[in-house]
Amino acid sequence: MAQPTGDIGLIGLAVMGQNLILNMNDKGFNVVAYNRTTSKVDHFLANEAKGTNIQGAHSIEELVAKLKKPRKIILLVKAGSAVDSFIQQLEPHLDQGDIIIDGGNSHYPDSIRRTQELEAKGLLFVGSGVSGGEEGARYGPSLMPGGSPAAWPHIKEIFQATAAHVNGEPCCDWVGETGAGHYVKMVHNGIEYGDMQLIAEAYDILKRGLGLHEDEIAEIFTKWNTGVLDSFLIEITANILKFKDDDGEPLVVTLIGEAVFARCLSALKEERTRASKIIAGPEKEQFKGDRKQFIDDLEQALYASKIISYTQGFMLMRQTAQELGWNLNYAGIAQMWRGGCIIKSVFLGDITSAYQKNIKIESLLFDDFFNKAVHKAQPGWRRIVAQAVLWGIPTPAFSTALAFFDGYRSEIVPANILQAQRDYFGAHTFRVLPGKENERLKPGEDIHINWTGRGGNVSASTYLA
Ligand code: NAP
Repeated sequence: MAQPTGDIGLIGLAVMGQNLILNMNDKGFNVVAYNRTTSKVDHFLANEAKGTNIQGAHSIEELVAKLKKPRKIILLVKAGSAVDSFIQQLEPHLDQGDIIIDGGNSHYPDSIRRTQELEAKGLLFVGSGVSGGEEGARYGPSLMPGGSPAAWPHIKEIFQATAAHVNGEPCCDWVGETGAGHYVKMVHNGIEYGDMQLIAEAYDILKRGLGLHEDEIAEIFTKWNTGVLDSFLIEITANILKFKDDDGEPLVVTLIGEAVFARCLSALKEERTRASKIIAGPEKEQFKGDRKQFIDDLEQALYASKIISYTQGFMLMRQTAQELGWNLNYAGIAQMWRGGCIIKSVFLGDITSAYQKNIKIESLLFDDFFNKAVHKAQPGWRRIVAQAVLWGIPTPAFSTALAFFDGYRSEIVPANILQAQRDYFGAHTFRVLPGKENERLKPGEDIHINWTGRGGNVSASTYLA
């Protein structure tokens, strides 16, 4: 048989797979395409892939035989059992050091398991987050690979060439061990929903609070997109708001409003409809303040809430990395999200810089740049949340971000009452704060008090109530 010429194989010719293959082909790599339903291979070669260097394979054996060693095979199939099924089919045909890459939306514990199972057999595994949908796959996605570190040098060139680029830097770097790539993709998706919710809340305040028309709101978003909030999501929201239906009315009225409710209270649609008729909010009051100041405050509220959302996302990754022993590349992660994906923004460049300055930083709020930014944003942020509460406009994301911020900056939180309640009803014990000790309350001891005089002196051994 002829010498293999394939640089990389890809299994799964649905929307993501086909587009990623075409992208890799454009970057000069020779890709071998395979799909469970092999008629799709022929269709792809005869249509989208016509005139390219893309090769097809009609069996796993043929796919493997066409690849140069160490073989690299990307799976872009439905997450779950299809991934395990293809791994099983591939294994007998692969050699030591060959690499299986799962680019689907797999749950990260599966990727931890797959890395361990394949490494035990001398193979390498990569679980890679792929973000950016169809367009990203075709022209440059954000790629978040993690798994067997030994695989990275072999896939780095293809991955970084295929990924989106911002200021010449690829939106792809090694994330960390085992399931780290898919974990980071999961956090990315959470952040994406948070960003969308925050934008929807800002829209709601402008619409229901200030009573602005979609065209005016679009103008505000367009302006915000030139400042600290410069991002893909702000940009598309401005475009959505400008979009007119056939009747000349903005289409967003049903669209965005429903998106917010759908996420927060979707299961309760009927109940909400009934409640809206029998539970009254505050009387609608015309805004009498300084509109320009208010809109500037809203920009700052959005910015500060976004800082908190990303702070929490990175804290989450840090915590998991500690628990699972991963060495996560935080600056690289922010850089990977800089382009190619839904949350791409200028802001992520500032997060990259924060972690480049200090990889060990506990939270973004300790970084000078973000510390100054939240301090500057704070007064406006508080005014917006307060006004929304007075108006009766729900701002769950703005408000929870502010509550987290106030909790995080409080040296003492009211856990003393909570601990006392738990000791009162369940003898769960408590410890005294340094400086509050006395004869009865000794430092460092688990103390139980007989609060009512009726309980005994035995304390509970389990922590949970
Ligand atoms: P998809 O609809 O999730 O999956 C279709 C592909 O999976 C087809 O190649 C199909 O083969 C194969 N497949 C399904 N069940 C199978 C089974 N039991 N055994 C073997 N093969 C099976 O395709 P997609 O939308 O392109 O997504 C691919 C992966 O990327 C998914 O994990 C998805 O979550 C992830 N992803 C998607 C997007 C997006 O925007 N669509 C973005 C990021 C990540 P047949 O043709 O033979 O049915």
